[in-house]
Order: sequence, then C-alpha cells, then structure tokens
Amino acid sequence: MTLTLEAPAEATPLVEVHGLRHVYGAGKSGPGLVVLDDVNVSLRDHEIVGLLGRSGSGKSTLLRSIAGLITPSEGEVRINNPSGDAGQSAVAMVFQSFALFPWLTVEKNVELGLEAKGLAPEVRRKRTLAAIDLIGLDGFENAYPKELSGGMRQRVGLARALVVEPAVLLMDEPFSALDVLTAETLRTDLVDLWTEGRMPIRSILMVTHNIEEAVLMCDRVLVFSSNPGRVVAEVEVDLPRPRHRLDPSFRALVDDLYGRMTTQPKPTSAQQGARTGTPGLGVALAVLDTDTLASMIERLVTPPNDGEADLADLAAHLQMEADELLPIAETLQLMRFADMAGRTLRLTPAGRRYEAADVDRRKQIFAQHLLAYVPLARHIRSVLDESPSHQAPASRFREELEESMSPAYAEETIEAIVTWGRYAEIFAYHEDDDRFSLDDPA
Ligand code: ADP
Ligand code: MG
Repeated sequence: MTLTLEAPAEATPLVEVHGLRHVYGAGKSGPGLVVLDDVNVSLRDHEIVGLLGRSGSGKSTLLRSIAGLITPSEGEVRINNPSGDAGQSAVAMVFQSFALFPWLTVEKNVELGLEAKGLAPEVRRKRTLAAIDLIGLDGFENAYPKELSGGMRQRVGLARALVVEPAVLLMDEPFSALDVLTAETLRTDLVDLWTEGRMPIRSILMVTHNIEEAVLMCDRVLVFSSNPGRVVAEVEVDLPRPRHRLDPSFRALVDDLYGRMTTQPKPTSAQQGARTGTPGLGVALAVLDTDTLASMIERLVTPPNDGEADLADLAAHLQMEADELLPIAETLQLMRFADMAGRTLRLTPAGRRYEAADVDRRKQIFAQHLLAYVPLARHIRSVLDESPSHQAPASRFREELEESMSPAYAEETIEAIVTWGRYAEIFAYHEDDDRFSLDDPA
C-alpha cells in the first residue's frame, strides 16, 4: 500500500491578495482617488514575480499593503508562511533608495533588521555577517554610509532585508535610483544568488516600470494598468537563465509587454476631478520639455516612419524605457497631435501641420491645442482672464490638483503646465513668488 501524502502546502500560494481596493483621501472633501481597484495577485513558492506598471499606477501602494505598511480600503492580503520561526519574517521590503542611519556602520545598519527579533547577540552578529557576505559587502562592515556608493548602499538595503530571512522579499523599484551599469550589476548578482539557491528566501515580488528588467529577472510578469491600478495581463517568462537581452525570444517578450502596457483603460470619474467640477483636472501631466514633444513629432515623419511608428521600435532606437517614452506618446495623444492604437503611435492631421510649420506658427498651434485639450491650461487661463489683476498664486491650482492626486504629482503637473504655458505664451509664471500672470513672460 502506498501512502499518499497530501500536498496542500505546495498548492497554497505564499501570498494571496483578494479584491484589493485603495482610495487615498476618501471622505475628506470628496470621493478621493481610487488607486487600486479589484486587485488579485498570488505569489507561489519559489518564483520571482514582477509587477510592471507605469509611474503612478499604484504599484507602491500595493506593495506597501502586502508589507502591512498601509491598510487598504478594501480587500484581503494573506501571507501563508507556516514554517516561519523566531528570527524570521514573513516579508521584508527593499525600497528604491534606503534611509541608512549615517551614524551607524554597515554592520550595525544591517543588524537593525534583527533588533526586534529577540535573538542572542552572537546569533545576531553571525547572521548579520552572513548577509553582508552574501550580498558582496564583505570588507565594508565598518564603513559608514557616506563612504559608500549608491550601489553599495543599495546592497546594504538588500542585506538588511535578507538578514531577517523573509519568506517573501518585496522590492519596490530597487534599481531605479542607480546608474545603468551599477543597476545591471546588482540585477545580475541577485539573479545569480537566486538561481544558485543561496538566498534565504522563498519568493520575490518586485515592482518595476522597466520592461527589460522584468523580462530579465522574473518568472512571471503581471501588467498593471493605471487609473485605477489593476492587473490587466499575466505573462509567463519561460526563458532559460542567464537571459540575454538581444535574444529574439527576449525581444519578442519585451515587444509583447510594450503592447500590453499601452492598452490602458479610460480614467475614472474620480480621476477626472469630479469634486473640482473642472473635468479632466485630475489628469496628472508629465514634466516634458516642449522640445521633446516637438522632436517626437519630427521623429514620426523621419524615414522609415511615415507619420507613424511602432512604440517598441521607437523605444529601442531611442534607447528609452517604456516609462520615458509612454508619457511622451500620451501627452501627444492628450493634445491630439498623435493617436495611440495598440503599439502604434500615429500623427494626426494637426500633428502633421505642427511638424510642417515654422517656429511662430508652431507656438500658435500648440497654444490652441493646449487650451482646447488640456483642462488645467484652460482653467488657469480663465482664472487669470477673470481676475482684475490678471494674476493668481500657483498654490491655488496646486491645492485644487491635490484633491485628486498626491502632492508630488500635483507639483509635477504644475511644472509641466508652466513649461507648456510659457512656450505657448498663454500665461507667465514667476518663480520668485510662485505666481501665474498674463504678463509678457519676461
Ligand atoms: P506607483 O508606485 O505605481 O508609482 P503609487 O502607489 O506611488 O504608484 O501611487 C499611485 C497613485 O496614488 C498616484 O496617483 C499618487 O499620486 C497617489 N498617491 C500615492 N500616495 C499617496 C498619498 N499618501 N496620498 C494621496 N495620494 C497618494
Ligand atoms: Mg512606486
């Protein structure tokens, strides 16, 4: 007779997220900003899963919910970690950049992770040194953060997370603050440790806006939409490791993900600034130079492009990441200079007129489109028109924006509108006293 052992432990995911919804600022003065809506995610044993989405799509909010750092408005997060014992954690988080304590050495900074675990000092020290060793920081034990490069500091962040031997390692864009070469070294080191089975963890859930990074590192990629954040696609990456960026199968996956990332649902009414009564005011604008917008328009008529181009090709030629290229494409779409259909970015007749025009005519066309299609521009202009002094403090618009976006996004949105408004000469902005006016921009 054979005894059949049940294998439920295998089948139960390590992390289960059900029906997660999160609203920022609800109940204060309006409906709030729906950042996550009906998010369902599971993380199985021994896998690296990537959450791929644009800036502002709610990835950090989701990761923080899983880490227990914030309580989501609705839904459930379950961490199934039966074997966890004292000295181990269910989850540990690595952030984009680490707040290391400047007065503590590398060793003490890493050991901090273990402080609340009630371990004997010699056990703590042993585990700390092991984590430092694993992550390639040996020799730096007694260094202070200010003596370390960005890459080395991020290694300290990783060691601090690994020292608690978490079942799940959560990483929030851990390489995006690093220079290109350093980021690649850290990615490779981490993947090597993972494939060699040397990391004291079971699975990794990482957030990224970088498509190539997701394909390079992950077993599975969940594509996250924006406004509100939701999982819109799941893509298996079954390429053998080590992976090579130039492999045709690697490129094909990158292209595929490009298409999936550009398929975004329409903004919700909460996003549209329901409370302010000015439709579309809740749309965050990307800080982009008007020269950048103009050169993308020109690019679309530069052979071999004939008024349209494939976004993945454009990104490859321009060596841009999705997160850099898509805001340009979206801004052109917002202003009706181009249309995005799937992965194709195509100039509109207005976009072609702009391209063919001289400098002054371009400004006029840009001004018309700015006022017609960017509600914030129209709003600022009409406030200035109606004000007897033809001026208004920028703080007023910032506050209106903050009803439907975070202060950081509001700040960027103001910065974008200042740049575009100046170029179009529809209003001026005075930095010294943070004020808009209709004066001639001096
Ligand atoms: P991501 O990590 O994908 O860039 P976030 O989760 O940081 O996205 O933010 C998602 C949205 O939530 C953004 O529009 C942001 O402005 C907003 N947001 C984030 N944190 C807060 C907060 N504390 N209060 C209000 N809005 C916030
Ligand atoms: Mg984030």
